[in-house]
Amino acid sequence: MGDQQILILGAPGAGKGTQSKRLAEEYDLEHVTTGDALRENRDMETEHGTPREYMEAGELVPDELVNEIVEEALSSADGYVLDGYPRNESQVEYLQRITDLDVVLHLEVSEETLVDRLAGRRVDPETGDNYHVEFDMPDDEEVRERLIQREDDQEETVRERLRVFEENTEPVIDHYEDHEGYVRIDGEQSPDEVWEEIKEAVDERTA
Ligand code: ADP
Ligand code: ADP
Repeated sequence: MGDQQILILGAPGAGKGTQSKRLAEEYDLEHVTTGDALRENRDMETEHGTPREYMEAGELVPDELVNEIVEEALSSADGYVLDGYPRNESQVEYLQRITDLDVVLHLEVSEETLVDRLAGRRVDPETGDNYHVEFDMPDDEEVRERLIQREDDQEETVRERLRVFEENTEPVIDHYEDHEGYVRIDGEQSPDEVWEEIKEAVDERTA
């Protein structure tokens, strides 16, 4: 397993999941994603209610629960790509206490593109892989037929998620701009072009 410790930042729909999957494969890293972890435990009863209630409304799940998920996942990983966390400043502080980062990738994408990407996103329920009705459909017909739309990718929830991003997560990105491993990536490019930039940035900072 690789030992690179990579954080990937960006708005909902920026392409974090798509590129994290490639990073995990290329460098043999653990893909730590709070969104997937929460979806797997969406009906878990906690003192704050279930994750589902927050996710369906497009709101952030309480920090306590998310912090615990991340701490556990990172403690068993050597190298990792962290995707979907931290999403507010209190999560930033928590993360700083438990680990160091070699590379911080920021996928920058315009709001218009985000809305198109989220509206057309489809997920393979068996593998969790993300596809897009227009930009990226699987070749295998069986996979094509089983794709589903995430409940929170409906238009109204998308708008709320983008609002929550702007309010809570934009400041997180501002914070990491000063990190020595920070690199801004033009996320408007094709998935392959974005990947080339990412790979170059990671190799430069961790070779
Ligand atoms: P996207 O891929 O569109 O950015 P995610 O799958 O990362 O979406 O997140 C889906 C939902 O899961 C969020 O809208 C939020 O409710 C919850 N969630 C994911 N990560 C976090 C986090 N770090 N803190 C709080 N809530 C989170
Ligand atoms: P995030 O994890 O940041 O929410 P995803 O990786 O799930 O983003 O990507 C959101 C949607 O956009 C998916 O449907 C995905 O297939 C598509 N997508 C991802 N990267 C690109 C890209 N560079 N160009 C076009 N579509 C993309």
